[in-house]
Order: sequence, then structure tokens, then C-alpha cells
Amino acid sequence: MPTHATPVAPEALAALEAELRELLGERGVSVELAAREKASVDGSRLSPVISQQLPLGLADLVAYPATADEIALVVGAAVRHGVPITPRGKGTGNYGQAIPFDGGLVLDMTRARAIVEVGDGTLTAEAGATMVSLEQAAAKTGQQILLYPSTAQSTIGGFLSGGSGGTGSIKHGSNHQGFVVALDVVHAVPDATLVHVEGDEAQPYVHNYGTAGIIARATIRLEPLQEWRGFFASFDTFEQLLPLMRSFGALDPAPRLVSGDLPTLADALPADPAIPRGRASLRAILDEATVARATELVEAAGGRVEDVREGPQTAMKLSMISYNHPIEWLQKAYPDTYFHVEVSGDALIDRIDEVHAVYDGGMLHIETSQGRPIGMLAGRYTSADDVYAGFAKLQELGVGYHNPHQWFVDFEPARTRELAATTDPLGLLNPGKLVAPTLSTGAKVS
Ligand SMILES: Cc1cc2nc3c(=O)[nH]c(=O)nc-3n(C[C@H](O)[C@H](O)[C@H](O)COP(=O)(O)OP(=O)(O)OC[C@H]3O[C@@H](n4cnc5c(N)ncnc54)[C@H](O)[C@@H]3O)c2cc1C
Repeated sequence: MPTHATPVAPEALAALEAELRELLGERGVSVELAAREKASVDGSRLSPVISQQLPLGLADLVAYPATADEIALVVGAAVRHGVPITPRGKGTGNYGQAIPFDGGLVLDMTRARAIVEVGDGTLTAEAGATMVSLEQAAAKTGQQILLYPSTAQSTIGGFLSGGSGGTGSIKHGSNHQGFVVALDVVHAVPDATLVHVEGDEAQPYVHNYGTAGIIARATIRLEPLQEWRGFFASFDTFEQLLPLMRSFGALDPAPRLVSGDLPTLADALPADPAIPRGRASLRAILDEATVARATELVEAAGGRVEDVREGPQTAMKLSMISYNHPIEWLQKAYPDTYFHVEVSGDALIDRIDEVHAVYDGGMLHIETSQGRPIGMLAGRYTSADDVYAGFAKLQELGVGYHNPHQWFVDFEPARTRELAATTDPLGLLNPGKLVAPTLSTGAKVS
């Protein structure tokens, strides 16, 4: 459970509210309960462990800056009044990271969404721009973004701060591996301004939930646009499909996405004739030059190709039923039944029966990232202790895991703490996230 600090003093909140109304106008700030509640939830309903602890915090006020410069002004004002600041994009993060544990100010970025510049190989946008809008802007110039999450409607600031990978990860890995060219960040100091950081200096601000600085503007890398095809295949069994995760991952040019599901998981996805009921489903975004080879691979494995579709909408649709989304659909089909753990490693293919046996009702949704099988292992939820008990069994099988039922910064936490000591000396940025996890809940093994 987060440790809630003393409630923020009403006088400080009132003074901040008045200052924000001056800075942003009447529409730029809200203290309405509905707005505060909306700004205080995220996608953590995906975790039954966290769901049982909700609500975990409630914003006292919400600010809606419309530009990067306004983001800096709002942060400075909040610091001067000693009010905690929780940044927020679309609030799709999975683990409670965007919930304001100590109340205070939620900084909603979604109005600061300008795409500032699309250059040759780079794109600059404000924090609230959606990943879909970035992909569309890049495509107009014959380019594509390296990667985007399956929540493609989420923001670039939220993806860089709370996400990791998705479509494009087969070639480019995670968003801390060369995706970010430069950032304009805001530190939690009284005279906050935009601080420009490039290259190695920018990386320590990625994937730590805004605890070392708020991302106001980001410059990300682009690559030349490819001709993508949406590829759908089905199989009698999941075991027939599994080896193809490796052979598809090795296609050249690399696919942008390869997802595989057991029949039960595939049946929970939105109805599509190319995902026939009762069959294991393989879906991929393939470079058109590899479709013929992929078809051979499917047929040699005893499967059948259901459809090959053109156009950016198909690719986006496939992205939006990848990664955590099959788990979300499974939970919709079977309410209050399943949890999941993020998993990785060759054992997902080589020891699938043992992996499934770790949890009652175990079912793997599989993806591939940089030649490595990764996935979401669903199981029937009984208790948090049973979820954690499975971690040791996964380790014995050589399966890497990440616990999606906790909200602590677990990527380079020491580096973040060191940076935050100077960029957030009062500890006002996203309180409760940059603390040491307990062994049972916070261990990270990759
Ligand atoms: C069904 C489902 C599927 C998902 N699939 C994927 C996936 O494929 N890949 C993936 O990486 N993630 C995935 N996620 C997690 C999440 O949706 C993404 O990481 C998403 O990109 C987060 O963006 P957001 O705008 O919703 O951020 P939010 O949820 O609003 O914020 C995420 C975190 O970043 C902080 N933050 C937000 N904006 C800023 C900013 N400008 N500066 C500093 N900190 C900030 C927040 O405080 C929070 O800690 C999934 C989630 C769900 C529910």
C-alpha cells in the first residue's frame, strides 16, 4: 500500500488554483469532483491485486496546459506552493503509476499535443500527442516511428515514461534503446523552465513515471516507411504455432509484430473472420516482401493462412489486439477471473506445458521482441500470495518475469533516485512511486 502523506494544506491548494486560473484561463484548471476522479484512475483494473486496493488516491485539482511552455509554468507554480504533481497522459498505464497517491495536482497533458516538426529521421511533438497521430504524421513524409504500444491512442509522454515496447519491438526493442533523440523536460523547481537534454543525457528521464522530471516535448527517431501487410493464420493447436514465433521473428525484413494466442484467448478477441473460433491464432504485421515465405512457414507447420490485408488501418488494428490487449479481452469475456504476469525467455516455447502449469488455468499470450519470446501469462486469480508464489516457479523454468501488480520505479531505480535528488529536491513528482519495493512484490527479473 502507498503511504499517504499529510493532506495538502487547503490554503496552498487555493493559492495554486488561483494562480493556475491566471496562467491557463478558466478552462485550464478544474476542481470539479468528476474531473478529479477521472484524473485519478488508470488501467490498473487489469490487475486484480491493485483493483482490490482502489481508490489509491484522489487529485485535489487538475491542470490542462495546452503547450510545453505552459507545462513548465504549471510545474513551477505547484512547486512554489509545495503541492505534489502527478503527470498524466491518457491514463492507460497498467499499475497505478498515474494515480496521485498524495492528492495534489494532476497534470493532464492531453491538450499539449502539437506535432512540432517532422524532419528527416526525427519527429518532435509535445507530451500529449498520441502515438497514432505521430505515426500518421510520419507516414505523410514517407517515414514511420520505430515503435508504439498496443495502446496506440496513448500519449508520447506517457509511453516514454510508463511504457516499454510493442509494434516495432522485434527490430527496435524497448523505448529506452535509441528511440529517444532529445527531450525538453521540466524539473520540480520554483522557477521551472524547459530543459533541453539530448542523447545519453535524455535517457535517464525515460521509463520512470515522471519521478525525475516531466517530459514536455520529445524528439523521437523515424525510419523509412515500409509496405506492411496484416497477416492472419490459424492452427489446430497452440503447439503448432509456437515454433513460428522464432521463424517469423527471423524473417528479413523483420516483421513489425508477431502475436500468438491459444484458442481460448483468441476466442475472446473482437470477432473477425480471420480469427476463426476454436483455433489458435497467429497475427503478424509483415513487410510485403516476406508474405510468401511466411505463408510457406504456416503451411509447413500444418496451419492455414486466413487473410492478408493491406493498409495502415489493418496494421493499427493488429497492434491494438497485441501485448496486454488479449488479456484485457479475456477479462471482459470472463469477468473477475484472470490475472497476468509479464514473462520472457526461450522456455515460453521450449517448456510451454510447464509454463502453463505454473498457474491454475495458465494460458500464454506470446509475442517476440528482438529475437526473444516474450508474453503475458494469464492464470485464474485466487490471491496475491498465489500470484507471487508462481514467480519462483517461473524462475526455476528459466522464465524471466515482471510483476505488473506494483507501481514502483523498477527500471534503473538507483539512477533515477540520483537524478531526482537534484531535479526534484522536495520529492513532489509523482509521490509514492520512487521507493524501494518489497522483495515479494517488487522483484524484477528480465
Ligand atoms: C490493455 C493494455 C495494453 C497495453 N499495452 C502496452 C504495450 O503494448 N506496450 C507498452 O509499453 N505499454 C502498454 N500498456 C501500458 C500503457 O498503456 C502504455 O505504456 C501507454 O503508452 C501509456 O501512455 P499514457 O498516455 O496512457 O500514459 P499514462 O498512463 O497517463 O502515464 C504513464 C506513466 O507515465 C507518467 N507520465 C505521463 N505523462 C508523462 C509526461 N509527459 N512526463 C513524465 N511522466 C509522464 C504517469 O505519471 C504514469 O506514471 C498497455 C496498457 C493496457 C491497459
